[in-house]
Amino acid sequence: MKFPAPDSVPNTYQVVPGPEMGMVTPEVLENIASIAREHDIPLIKITSAQRLAFVGMDPAEQEIVNAKLGIPNIKPTKGNGLTYIQACPGKGYCKYGRQHSFALGKRLQEELVDIILPAKTKVGVSGCPMNCCESYIRDLGIFGKKKGWTLIFGGNGGGNPRIGDVIAKHLNDNEVLGLARRVLEFYASKARNLERSARFMEHTSLTELKEAVLNPKSI
Ligand code: SF4
Repeated sequence: MKFPAPDSVPNTYQVVPGPEMGMVTPEVLENIASIAREHDIPLIKITSAQRLAFVGMDPAEQEIVNAKLGIPNIKPTKGNGLTYIQACPGKGYCKYGRQHSFALGKRLQEELVDIILPAKTKVGVSGCPMNCCESYIRDLGIFGKKKGWTLIFGGNGGGNPRIGDVIAKHLNDNEVLGLARRVLEFYASKARNLERSARFMEHTSLTELKEAVLNPKSI
């Protein structure tokens, strides 16, 4: 496979709206490729956030390109909100899957869209303990086992990495969604502005956090 030389590609990098959590149909993929050809976009990058990005797109064409794509706009939020949700295919799509991670990722995306957070917050939802979406090193991590979901908070995979803390296990879909919201609300109410969850957990009592979120009346 031959790629254009880096210096020959204009310095623009536009995230394409979609696909959702890395899942895409052949029709959508063909549509994306055909739009890229029509607009002379030289490269399409698969990003670490499971999105596709047009590399070298003329920014003046963004509106037309977006209109042609006709798929939901899930551009990452900047700052205060869930930055992105990664989910693996999970049960039904992957032979190791124990829970429906893709479906849960979609629900998280829809149901937690309103939440205001102190800093960038990345979510990883994995359908089994192999954790392909690196749930232990996401701000909010969730992975499935036969008995239900495990929820983890405060992980980070950056320059100062941290393994997140397990908050609860054996949760069903509604329980994990409710708990995820309460954990994020606890973080939002107590963290400093721009403080990532990993740094927040370094000076926060896990016992206090668990008490508050597992026993919501005490928040
Ligand atoms: S985490 Fe498990 S279910 Fe998800 S893709 Fe990896 S192996 Fe499959």
